[in-house]
Amino acid sequence: MTKGYPIRTCIGCGKREPKHNLTRIVLQNDQRRIYIDPAGRRPGRGAYLHKEAGCIERGLSPRCITRTFRGTAAPVQGLAEAVLKATERVAM
Ligand SMILES: [Zn+2]
Repeated sequence: MTKGYPIRTCIGCGKREPKHNLTRIVLQNDQRRIYIDPAGRRPGRGAYLHKEAGCIERGLSPRCITRTFRGTAAPVQGLAEAVLKATERVAM
């Protein structure tokens, strides 16, 4: 075991968190589409979000997406819901 947890920043609120408290989303470059990556293993440029409606809403706004992924990209349909659902699974 290495000491500590990997720390990532939520793109919704900018807070730093241990990675396991955040949900990864990933940009697939060829399609300029953003997918949820619950297992954290998809290739591509990743970003992290709290599993909270406010962070998801801000983090997936066009302005934030453009800044985070340095170019235009679009979340796949239902991405926000998928991130929220990841919460429910963890909460149970
Ligand atoms: Zn957040």
